[in-house]
Amino acid sequence: KLHNTILELKGNIRVFCRVRPLMVEEEDGNETAIVQYPSSTELQGRAIELLQPTAGGGKHSFTFDKVFGPEVKQGGVFEEISQLVQSALDGYKVCIFAYGQTGSGKTHTMLGNPDVPDEGGVIPRSLEQVFESSQTLISQGWKFSMQASMLEIYNETIRDLLVKGPVNGDTKQMYVVKHDANGNTTVSDLTLVEVTTWKEVSSLLHRASQSRSTGKTCMNEQSSRSHCVFTLRISGVNEDTEQAVHGVLNLIDLAGSERLSRSGATGDRLKETQAINKSLASLGDVIMAIANKDPHVPFRNSKLTYLLQPCLGGDSKTLMFVNISPDTKSLNESLCSLRFAAKVN
Ligand code: ADP
Ligand code: MG
Repeated sequence: KLHNTILELKGNIRVFCRVRPLMVEEEDGNETAIVQYPSSTELQGRAIELLQPTAGGGKHSFTFDKVFGPEVKQGGVFEEISQLVQSALDGYKVCIFAYGQTGSGKTHTMLGNPDVPDEGGVIPRSLEQVFESSQTLISQGWKFSMQASMLEIYNETIRDLLVKGPVNGDTKQMYVVKHDANGNTTVSDLTLVEVTTWKEVSSLLHRASQSRSTGKTCMNEQSSRSHCVFTLRISGVNEDTEQAVHGVLNLIDLAGSERLSRSGATGDRLKETQAINKSLASLGDVIMAIANKDPHVPFRNSKLTYLLQPCLGGDSKTLMFVNISPDTKSLNESLCSLRFAAKVN
């Protein structure tokens, strides 16, 4: 487990900030740059400042483990996380989250465009790396079994994104989450697919995105209101050396963090708003409690943290991307995201 030493020295929770480029329609000519990157040797690549565009407006400074400006491409981001991904093959439980308001680049970061070379995000790059590395290990006598699943948590309810056929949304499945004494998680009725190549995973991603856009709870607009959790379970044995590893890689595109107005929201809308606020806040509370080594970690306060419980804390590894939109209109949401991230960092 050599290549994990650096992570271990620094604890197991990382926060990386990623700022997406300004969109063409956001560059209206009088757009002032509200995001700056201090360049002192000490802060280079780790600090970000948000400027209030009003006269006399203040400056808000944050530092993280890494800050990626808009010029950093998918490959550059992946370089910084490839060791973390690799540790899942060494038997670690890994969670990588993308947090931020809708439109800030979460899906771009996690998924990107997996069908276009260089445009793939964390999911395609991680899977390709895992499969490639496992080939090397197989040649050294290892055997692997890898299972993928993909689910969505909407309104504190789990939905299987890999169910075949049109049943999704109206099923009797309960998707009950259970953890056993060995830290293995099962979700009843959840589809698990044995995968050995990136191509197989790619077809699962297509199935999932179809399910997301046709399912009754997840129209496009609503997909920003659900958490999407891709999980790869990795089991490896080496009969020659009698070694075994059990790793898990969770890649999570979180619901949009924008504060949804409570005023006027009633019924389903109110319930939805409360569910998102609650689960993002619980995630923050859980990560903070782990970072502070609190004896009580409130995993049970949301479906997401309960599902991921064995993969958070202990000797598992967590990375949170906080995605930021650089436009002036997003200033307040960006500040909220950076404050959330600074709290868990
Ligand atoms: P979110 O999932 O947070 O709602 P998206 O990932 O869908 O946001 O990003 C919003 C838009 O910005 C998309 O069109 C996406 O392609 C684009 N985008 C996001 N991040 C980047 C980036 N780093 N470079 C180029 N385009 C980006
Ligand atoms: Mg998205």
